[in-house]
Amino acid sequence: MSARILDGKALATEVRARIADDVARLTAEHGVRPGLAAVIVGDDPASQVYVGMKHRASEAAGMRSEQHVLPADTAQEDLESLVRQLNDDDAVDGILVQLPLPDHLDSRAVQELIVPAKDVDALNPYTAGRLAIGDPTFLSCTPYGVLELLAHAGVETSGANVVIVGRSNLVGRPLSVMLTLKGRDATVTLAHSRTRDLAGVCRGADVIVAAAGQIGLVTADMVRPGAVVIDVGTNRGEDGKLVGDVAFDEVAEVAGAITPVPGGVGPMTVTMLLQNTLEAARARRGLPQR
Ligand code: NAD
Repeated sequence: MSARILDGKALATEVRARIADDVARLTAEHGVRPGLAAVIVGDDPASQVYVGMKHRASEAAGMRSEQHVLPADTAQEDLESLVRQLNDDDAVDGILVQLPLPDHLDSRAVQELIVPAKDVDALNPYTAGRLAIGDPTFLSCTPYGVLELLAHAGVETSGANVVIVGRSNLVGRPLSVMLTLKGRDATVTLAHSRTRDLAGVCRGADVIVAAAGQIGLVTADMVRPGAVVIDVGTNRGEDGKLVGDVAFDEVAEVAGAITPVPGGVGPMTVTMLLQNTLEAARARRGLPQR
């Protein structure tokens, strides 16, 4: 293997320690303990695991964490009334509604209801719009984690050709905007399932970000020697193990740097949720960001 491994778990530990210090200082100096409220509807096992991870991570960082678990047959108006209550609760700085919601619920309407000042998951269209015009509020957590991994690894994005595979509102699309903002200045190609000659497109990349949810989509022949490969994919293999979108073993022979799955982007996603909650707690009280 020639590629440098970009260790998201180690970076997450480092960033979370800094966040915990900042939280402790905010509490000591201003009596403010940032609070994160998570809402989960139904008993989807994966959602429960994710919300549990976020809960433990926020408590470990010294934040206040509350979980609202609603039954699977919750009515839209009851869910919306809980979100309104959290909007009005001064002890809550960040609100997270875990997706997917059961089919009968309108997740877009719920996301739109979260006040922008507490939209730490960055899924409200207002938040996405602010990013699109180059004046972002909160950055959505997974793309934010990808940016942190690249920055920490010393990857220069200015002028770089970045190919992002996957155009979802959760990952690919917001990341494409973040990377083209002034200061990051990448030249981005946002590839998707209709992209012609994906392999050829990827071969022109200095950085490839795979976020398609397809096991083994990015193979060694698609990667220019020395390119940086970030694997956002989180898929269950036939053996039940977690695997990404990148054929790790063969790509690691060609790439200059690569993130593993697990232990790459995943731990950074939760970390950036904490970062956003900390930023929300400061901003809501008119305190400067660090
Ligand atoms: P999604 O299904 O909403 O979007 C997938 C995108 O990939 C679509 O735009 C689609 O056009 C594109 N795509 C699918 N197959 C393709 C192909 N063969 N060639 C080119 N493009 C293709 O998925 P999502 O929510 O963006 O998630 C993507 C992956 O990232 C999933 O595996 C998900 O589990 C993972 N994910 C991981 C984290 C994390 O923290 N690590 C966070 C969010 C999502």
